[in-house]
Amino acid sequence: MTKTITTTSESETAAVGRELAATLSAGDVVLMYGDLGAGKTAFVKGLAEGLGVPGDEVSSPTFTIMQEYRGGRLPLFHVDLYRLDDPRELDDLGLEEIAEAGVLAIEWAEKLTGDARLKPSRYEDAVVVRIQHGDGDSRTISIWIPDPNLGPLIADL
Ligand code: ADP
Ligand code: MG
Repeated sequence: MTKTITTTSESETAAVGRELAATLSAGDVVLMYGDLGAGKTAFVKGLAEGLGVPGDEVSSPTFTIMQEYRGGRLPLFHVDLYRLDDPRELDDLGLEEIAEAGVLAIEWAEKLTGDARLKPSRYEDAVVVRIQHGDGDSRTISIWIPDPNLGPLIADL
């Protein structure tokens, strides 16, 4: 099912991430799409907070493709593929093993092209978050959740 929410501030976007976090378990992947400045990192801050990690520890990984945040209910692995030039840079990360161990949130997921860096079922079961700029500070967030059992949970987002 898809849920669409409009927010008008960074903290509102983070709050949506916080609510989503409550529905996640180890092995879940959150694929994130949206232009630069859309609010993907803001959303991941909310995910972190929702898992019990302070959101201010979260920033876009600039020199590393991935950052991990521990100390919450589940480890959060935060990948930002914005600067990825060559998909082979992903090979050393071991994304599949990482995905198994906690929640994996990926900014610029469109750069995850091609082959099996993740099991096909990770994509099939992934939560897909698209954030679009509106006027000013407005952002439209659409969240696709594959598991209908989670419907009641995200209905409250
Ligand atoms: P991305 O990771 O998608 O490039 P960031 O989360 O790093 O985007 O940045 C989003 C920027 O937009 C921040 O400067 C934030 O303060 C601003 N902003 C304004 N309105 C919103 C909103 N409704 N949701 C999220 N961010 C917003
Ligand atoms: Mg970002």
